[in-house]
Amino acid sequence: MKVLDKGEVRLINKMGGDLAVIAAARVSNGVEYEAASKGEEADQKLLNYLIKHRHGTPFEHSTFQFYVKAPLFVVLEWQRHRMASYNEISGRYVEFEPEFYIPNKWRIPASTNKQGSVFPDIEFLNRWKGEHPYANDYRDGQVFPGTFHGKMTNTLELYCKEVYGIYLYYIEQGVAKEMARMVLPLNLYTQFYFTVNARSLMNFVSLRAAEDAQWEIRQYALTIKEIFKEVMPLTYNGWEKNGFLAP
Ligand SMILES: Cc1cc2nc3c(=O)[nH]c(=O)nc-3n(C[C@H](O)[C@H](O)[C@H](O)COP(=O)(O)OP(=O)(O)OC[C@H]3O[C@@H](n4cnc5c(N)ncnc54)[C@H](O)[C@@H]3O)c2cc1C
Repeated sequence: MKVLDKGEVRLINKMGGDLAVIAAARVSNGVEYEAASKGEEADQKLLNYLIKHRHGTPFEHSTFQFYVKAPLFVVLEWQRHRMASYNEISGRYVEFEPEFYIPNKWRIPASTNKQGSVFPDIEFLNRWKGEHPYANDYRDGQVFPGTFHGKMTNTLELYCKEVYGIYLYYIEQGVAKEMARMVLPLNLYTQFYFTVNARSLMNFVSLRAAEDAQWEIRQYALTIKEIFKEVMPLTYNGWEKNGFLAP
């Protein structure tokens, strides 16, 4: 599934699904794997109960392996989630492609959260009565290729082109890739595998799909949430019922 301008999330492997969780919970009563399901209604009830009462360990028996392509600044946030396994492309071996995240909409600092940012709405622009640099670029809640956004995007494109040229220059001069990469910016795309159990994945999504998370990592977390819904529909229902808090 495509994310941002050039990013991607792909489910490579999955193991267990809802049934592995149900079996792990019912092993307490000596029930075998093959007999673990007691029908959808009873299974759903059990999963709701486990999530509500934060009995999280049964959810550790289902796992997902994703391939992810994301900008470095997103990956810095992502890999803070320690309860997962990661393997990433090495900039010591590989010459990076000139693939950079180039947004075409620029956000302003949020007034309610120092860390956050927002897309300015019409109300905000009306307050500025056309004097804010954003005003020319927004009409009816949509972005037009106007002066402000265009200028910000062009500046980033020019910058990336320039630094990528410097990166290639170092390599041409015989400098090792592990040093040449020092010039590359945080919007460079990288690739990695992310293998994680369902409990930890719910923790990742609950934190990174939340409104206070950075917009770019939110797009990845929301994509993963959709995949999760398809792979573990009963767990997803129970999770939703409990406000998407991880057990
Ligand atoms: C909106 C937002 C803003 C953030 N801002 C910052 C910031 O400004 N600076 C910053 O440094 N980080 C920041 N973070 C990262 C945050 O502090 C966590 O590192 C990250 O969200 C991973 O969460 P986690 O520890 O629950 O996940 P995981 O590392 O996957 O851990 C899952 C769970 O395992 C348990 N666990 C894991 N490791 C340990 C341990 N060593 N000891 C005890 N229990 C453990 C905990 O119960 C934990 O919740 C931010 C995160 C979000 C969502």
